[in-house]
Amino acid sequence: MATPAALGMRTDYCGTLRASDAGRQVRLCGWVASRREHGEHLAFVDLRDHTGVVQCVVDHAHDVRTEYVIAVAGTVRPRPEGTVNPALATGEVEVGDCQVEILAAADPPPFPVTDRIDADEALRLRHRYVDLRRDRMQANLRMRARVNAAIRTAMDRQGFTEVETPLLWTPTPEGSREFAVPSRRQHGSFYVLPQSPQIAKQLLMVGELDRYYQLARCLRDEDLRADRQFEFTQLDLEASFVGQEDVIGFVSEAVLEADAAATARPRPSMDRITWAEAMDRYGTDKPDLRFGMELVDLGPVLAGTELKALQAASVKALRVPGQGGLGRSRLDALVERAKGLGAKGLVWARVVAGGDGASGGALESPVSRFLSDDEQTGIIAAAGAAPGDLVLAVADEHRRACSVMGQLRLDLGRPPVGEGPPRYVWIVDFPLFDGIGDDGRPEAAHHPFTMPNPEDLPFLESDPLRVRSLAYDLVLDGWELGSGSIRVHRVDMQRRIFAALGIDEEQAQSRFGFLLDAFRFGAPPHGGFALGIDRFVAVLAREENIREVIAFPKTQSGADPMTGAPKALDRQAMAELGIRSGPAPPAR
Ligand code: ASP
Repeated sequence: MATPAALGMRTDYCGTLRASDAGRQVRLCGWVASRREHGEHLAFVDLRDHTGVVQCVVDHAHDVRTEYVIAVAGTVRPRPEGTVNPALATGEVEVGDCQVEILAAADPPPFPVTDRIDADEALRLRHRYVDLRRDRMQANLRMRARVNAAIRTAMDRQGFTEVETPLLWTPTPEGSREFAVPSRRQHGSFYVLPQSPQIAKQLLMVGELDRYYQLARCLRDEDLRADRQFEFTQLDLEASFVGQEDVIGFVSEAVLEADAAATARPRPSMDRITWAEAMDRYGTDKPDLRFGMELVDLGPVLAGTELKALQAASVKALRVPGQGGLGRSRLDALVERAKGLGAKGLVWARVVAGGDGASGGALESPVSRFLSDDEQTGIIAAAGAAPGDLVLAVADEHRRACSVMGQLRLDLGRPPVGEGPPRYVWIVDFPLFDGIGDDGRPEAAHHPFTMPNPEDLPFLESDPLRVRSLAYDLVLDGWELGSGSIRVHRVDMQRRIFAALGIDEEQAQSRFGFLLDAFRFGAPPHGGFALGIDRFVAVLAREENIREVIAFPKTQSGADPMTGAPKALDRQAMAELGIRSGPAPPAR
């Protein structure tokens, strides 16, 4: 707590007064949270600042209205018998004999400044400065500041140097749509706002910085969602002469320090699984480990099945505990959901008592008569199901079967954000390529500077999809917090990867030439990571939407209802920038 001398115009903060302060003369400043008349002259004025609320008893408070900014000088005294408010931290006291000075009048607020009343989001964002006064926003932004401070402490302790990198930059390799800024001095030329400091941080490694970090603003012109804004903040880091384990260690340290600064819980552990295992068991590369319902492989049980709907390269199933009683319309909705996710269909079966008794049940399903007894008992055993459970299954090529069931697992079992003990998990051994594109070339799963796993290098050209990379992600409760990799630091290897990706010399030179040039002057082996602060803080604050942990976010449509941005520029400004607006180009 700050010393009184540091409190400026006041002696105390509103929310800090306690019974032990009784008898003290205080001067408080803040906003009028509410005013209640008490007899002819007297009013109770609840005075609020960022620390809380205290009741002031004011004589002749006629001209004091809600959200006025006032200073109150008075004496702290115990509240009269029977009027103590245990729900309030300052509930044992009130400030009496008050002198009130109005520091600023205020219009009635566009919505009440209380967390109990949920105002329309557009209105909240239009008057964000009022919204920010609410306890929830105050708590979220202050938690965010603690997270940032803890991260800085952990990074400094680990020998990292904070370096700022440019915002007016040139394309970076993340592959999202970019924001461009027209140059006033060179009409027709543009700066590009960085999707991340990726190239800059690699150049810092060539520049012998050794260990760099930054709480970096990044910009991507992508459609906005609950977990995406145009601009976002990353803990961005890069280190030289390190391997994957070192980077994982640096990031884990910073993340756990931040977790401790944000929450009072015991230090959580960090799990680790491979990408292939994550896909197989959870159907996603960002598994939520807070609950079970793992996917099971029915392939062996159904190897010889006659049921067409379950004949495919892969049959993945899911046990939904206790949901055997789901009604037909809910089950039909699940089938539609699976189809919407790309499956050809979804087989569902209720587990009921019966069967041969030993297995503990039989299946009741539109398809059960096509399944032999052995297959039914095999499915129940493989799923670990018991009477009363529901079993769902999808047959498809492996990746699709996994991803559809992975999504159904979330739909049916995922706890609310932030609920339960946190589950951090590192995902390692990502494939280098995501698949084969329309042009017959493999597509990079991460950015093209990611180092292939040396063991798989012989297959880079002959069997690219089998090549693993030295890339790793950190996931918290099913949210991807960030990703990183060990980088390619040699020009010959980088050329080989560009060639595999179908990026020709000329393209490589025009997009990333300056990085390749830098590598000619001696690049150390290096690797790094980027952790999304917005999502991280949102999970810690148990918020679904990252807008709740950002002071001034944009709406879903990318607008800022408060400033009116984006706005037209006047003609003069347009002319200076050498741009003319015309009809939108036809959609690509
Ligand atoms: N630059 C990458 C990203 O922003 C992260 C990294 O590889 O360090 O996604």
